Amino acid sequence: MKKSVSVDLALRLKHLPPYLFATIDKMKQKEKGKGTDLIDLSIGDPDIPTPSHIVNAMKDAVENPAHHRYPSYEGMLSYREAVSRWYRKRFHVTLDPQTEVLSLIGSKEGIGHIPLAFVNPGDVVLVPTPGYPVYHVGTLFAGGESYFMPLTESNNFLPDFSVIPENILQKAKLMFINYPNNPTSVVAHRKFYEDVVHIAQKYNIIICHDAAYSEVYYDDKKPLSFMEVDGAKEVGIEFHSLSKTYNMTGWRIGFAVGNKAVLEGLGKIKTNLDSGVFQAIQEAGIVALDTDDEVLSGIRSIYQDRRNVFYEGLKNLGLHLIKPEATFYLWARVPSRFDSSGFVVHLLEKAGVLGTPGNGFGEPGEGYIRFALTASVDRIKEAVERIEKVL
Ligand SMILES: *Cc1c(COP(=O)(O)O)cnc(C)c1O
Repeated sequence: MKKSVSVDLALRLKHLPPYLFATIDKMKQKEKGKGTDLIDLSIGDPDIPTPSHIVNAMKDAVENPAHHRYPSYEGMLSYREAVSRWYRKRFHVTLDPQTEVLSLIGSKEGIGHIPLAFVNPGDVVLVPTPGYPVYHVGTLFAGGESYFMPLTESNNFLPDFSVIPENILQKAKLMFINYPNNPTSVVAHRKFYEDVVHIAQKYNIIICHDAAYSEVYYDDKKPLSFMEVDGAKEVGIEFHSLSKTYNMTGWRIGFAVGNKAVLEGLGKIKTNLDSGVFQAIQEAGIVALDTDDEVLSGIRSIYQDRRNVFYEGLKNLGLHLIKPEATFYLWARVPSRFDSSGFVVHLLEKAGVLGTPGNGFGEPGEGYIRFALTASVDRIKEAVERIEKVL
């Protein structure tokens, strides 16, 4: 008999928070198995394809043998220059492509890795909740401790720094923030970012701003970059992704910009773990970043139509919801006779509409549901009709 090794997971995996979406995933498969015509609004992944000029740039680049070799760790200079151009055009922020821009294999990669560069066991990381789960998981993997900053409706889904205990602020090494925000869809304004800079300076905290949704906005109201605020580059960095802006989630390309020393630390982790982004993808990334504004407004107007139809539709049904200012999410309160998971299950089983339970993003998300606007206007209209029948 061949003896098996006993496979015992490391504590860092055993200590992962429970995956609240697992049960929902199972139920989704079950509904699908029954042949239900499911309207799946649970996934934050654009249903619109990558614009063809970007795909064509990739086709050309992939033929070039120069791109078949290992890429440089920090990203091709031409890619980092394209990022710098994009920042100047979009935010009027000047970045040195040599030292203030770093390529990433998607922003998730950088977000997950950055605590390894700066967090020692026992150090505190300030993490927004509800929020993108990677902030906390990256912290755990580095041996750090997350201090969760609740985002509540009464504070416009911004963290309230005044309630964070002094000793926590003293111990904090990093702070994650994310606007436009997933899952609540709100944007942050200059005053908030100024407060962030102030806290960072006072307590010596490195700021990591996740701006993955800066280009998915409504009513022509462009969100700010953290880097536009005085003092931001001295205290932190900003993560960006080509995923949501250009419908490129599968391509795995993003970047971080800002404080040179912070980027150097993250870069050190990366040179020891990965070997950069396939250069053909970087070539396509350059073309993406230089995309005509018209193409992007075209994408935005698709989301705008969907948002309008869904927001108005659900509001007419009497649901309490946040009007999205940006992102392709809609954050709604569940009717009072349900909790988050109960409402998601009810909609799935009775209406064939799938949303994500708000508590899956953290405990203060309890009582909310997140819908993603990643289906056509017709399907969204149908979702509203189906929801009406089961409320
Ligand atoms: C989608 C998403 C990301 C990650 O995108 P990548 O594809 O890894 O670049 C980061 N932050 C938030 C809040 C997201 O929703």
